[in-house]
Amino acid sequence: MTALPDMIHNLITKDEQSLAARIFDDIAKMSPDSAGVSRPAYSAKETEVLCYLEDLGISEGLSVTYDAGQNAVFSLPEDAAAEKFVLVGSHVDSVPMGGNYDGLAGVAAGLICLIRARRSGQSFARPVKVIAMRGEESAWFGPCYIASKALMGSLGKAEWGSLHKDDGRTLQAHMDTIGVDMERVCKGIPLLEADRVLEYIELHIEQGPLLIGKNMSMAIISGIRGNFRHKKIRCIGEAGHSGAVPRAYRKDPVLAMADLLTRLDESWLTILQKGGDMVMTSGIVATDPEKNAMTRIPDEVSFSLDIRSQDAGVLENMRVLLREEIDQVARERRVRFELASENATAPALMDTRVVKGLTGAMERLGLEPFVMASGGGHDAAVFANAGVPTAMVFVRNQNGSHNPDEAMEIDDFLVATSVIYEHLTDLPL
Ligand SMILES: [Zn+2]
Repeated sequence: MTALPDMIHNLITKDEQSLAARIFDDIAKMSPDSAGVSRPAYSAKETEVLCYLEDLGISEGLSVTYDAGQNAVFSLPEDAAAEKFVLVGSHVDSVPMGGNYDGLAGVAAGLICLIRARRSGQSFARPVKVIAMRGEESAWFGPCYIASKALMGSLGKAEWGSLHKDDGRTLQAHMDTIGVDMERVCKGIPLLEADRVLEYIELHIEQGPLLIGKNMSMAIISGIRGNFRHKKIRCIGEAGHSGAVPRAYRKDPVLAMADLLTRLDESWLTILQKGGDMVMTSGIVATDPEKNAMTRIPDEVSFSLDIRSQDAGVLENMRVLLREEIDQVARERRVRFELASENATAPALMDTRVVKGLTGAMERLGLEPFVMASGGGHDAAVFANAGVPTAMVFVRNQNGSHNPDEAMEIDDFLVATSVIYEHLTDLPL
């Protein structure tokens, strides 16, 4: 834990440290698995977590309701009927055997802002509502950001028609059982009109190592990377004896794949050197172990490709470059590439005014403003792409996310929560 500016120390109270720790501990105990926690999307377990938060909200004098998506919505009593409001929140579901903080931290941050205002008798500059959303993780049904897409009217048929990984029932059936207004969801009618949301703010644990490396508690997010992906690219060459076939006669798909990836890597470096944003990964690379051996030139290799950027232009350039490099490598190395269909998500830019509001809040609290890109996707992308002015706050976290070893310090969490609180109580620019 780094030394915090004095002003922040004044904002972190023992009461809030124990309140935050209690919320995280109680909910972890409600959702244990053989490792970490499991809170399936649109499950009774998820409902149980929302009921726990509802009880907490009521005991603190907050107004608690459920929206048409069966997400829990909290506010100060005087803001319950507000037509327009700033929305703060995240999701309560987790991946199987996941960590306790991914999603839940954003909900807890919003609640602590409300509780701080209620206990101190302060009011917000504009009405504030806090939302504890249901399913966000793709691990249960396939689609991600389910609750936020349902709210914004963008949950498609392929998504609500997808099947649960264990019981094979559709997402539609699961959502219907919970009481979500599926008639509107299936027609693409928003459950929440985007123009009622003045701003959407989501706190989330960082899923990468940047803040640990920089020794900073938190950061403001400038944008969420979009991506294009090929789950499987086949490179087809010709099998041969590893000792008998001279180089000139080879059609080696592994070297062709390596050549292609190296070319893409060089372009990646150039983009970074020009100040652009990009990451690239081939997480799956395989030759068939049944028919291949150390002494055989394989006839085929398959690999995955995941390219992400905050910048739609970079993604488009890489998409074109991929095709050009594939053609060239195929020609030079006498192999053939076959690409499985592409999946793509558009990048989501955060709203510059809201980002400025939050960096201003950091400065007023004596913190050095730091702005970075989000590599992972979040509900915030759905709100941003629906036209809601959106921003995110990341909290330092060890060991990544989607695993039981997520490690967020409560004090870092409260620093980030205080920045959101400072922004909510400040008059908008
Ligand atoms: Zn999350």
